[in-house]
Amino acid sequence: MSKHILVLPGDGIGPEVARIAVDCLKAAASAEGVSLTFDEAPFGGAGLDACGKPLPEETLDKARSADAVFLGAVGGPKWDDAPERPEKGLLALRSELGLFANLRPVKVFAGLEGLSPLKADRVAGADLLIVRELTGGLYFGEKREGRETASDLCTYSADEVARIARVAFRAASGRRGKLTSVDKANVLATSRLWRSTVNQLAPEYQDVTLDHMYVDATAMKLVTHPSAFDVILTENLFGDILSDEAAVIAGSLGLLGSASLGEGGPGLFEPIHGSAPDIAGQDKANPSGAIASAAMLLRFGLGEARAADRIEAALQAQLKSGRTTADIGGSLGCRAFGAEVCERLAS
Ligand code: ATP
Ligand code: MG
Repeated sequence: MSKHILVLPGDGIGPEVARIAVDCLKAAASAEGVSLTFDEAPFGGAGLDACGKPLPEETLDKARSADAVFLGAVGGPKWDDAPERPEKGLLALRSELGLFANLRPVKVFAGLEGLSPLKADRVAGADLLIVRELTGGLYFGEKREGRETASDLCTYSADEVARIARVAFRAASGRRGKLTSVDKANVLATSRLWRSTVNQLAPEYQDVTLDHMYVDATAMKLVTHPSAFDVILTENLFGDILSDEAAVIAGSLGLLGSASLGEGGPGLFEPIHGSAPDIAGQDKANPSGAIASAAMLLRFGLGEARAADRIEAALQAQLKSGRTTADIGGSLGCRAFGAEVCERLAS
């Protein structure tokens, strides 16, 4: 049976990198005998232009009935004075699709160690995945805002912890089998519930080795020994901070993808960079992050691991060849880079 993908090209460089991601999905699917169909819908600034809303109803309906949603990027100065921010569409889409798990892989690609602000020998081989809880914790707790005091309540239920922990255990099981659960259990009650809930699940995943680490120690170790990590599991606030810290290790925004997953419904897959209005429409964008997101769509969204492996191998080989876009030292445009990756996918 064929799987249906909704593409939201969005704004700025979004449409440029989304087009390359779709080409890669088609090439990898055809090489592996996977059947995919595609549709497109306006979203973000493009949604405001077309329908007066960043998340038009028709776009949401199409997203709900898709097997996976691919997003380019949203936002830009064009909508500074619009009645709504284009980015509001993203928050609405995440909440409508119930996306509680955010996956951010960080990889230092062979041949690109020099991009990292850390010493090349320190980051060589780093390849980790951060699994962040996205719908609970401090960001969503009751807020009190007074003149003299203010508070944000942090709440987690055991069920909320268990469902994100399962995502992380499964991801670790498909990787190198090492899971580090990150908390602050020496001071936080939510962290103690977090830790005991994760421990209770561990026997179900015999192929995964679990350890626990405090968030402050993790923040240090990410820059001193990033290659020591495989999968990091953590709550919303810690994950927000650690995933940005970890992204820097790779050395370029343009290289990394992400996935947001829910229960049952479609996942959302997007590069971590923004709409980069400064280079939009100039064929300068690095589509690597979008290509990496396409691989995640196949792996986590559709369960097509072989096609995902194929995309990751092709991207890795292309980056290693040095034939890259200008932001990482090459001289190819977005389209030419994408075409060369697609050629590798077909062979
Ligand atoms: P947003 O608010 O949309 O998240 P941001 O402030 O994070 O935006 P980006 O739009 O991601 O910023 O761009 C930051 C810088 O990185 C810009 O100079 C942009 O040109 C560059 N950049 C971002 N993505 C890419 C890419 N894929 N290829 C090349 N350069 C990029
Ligand atoms: Mg940003």
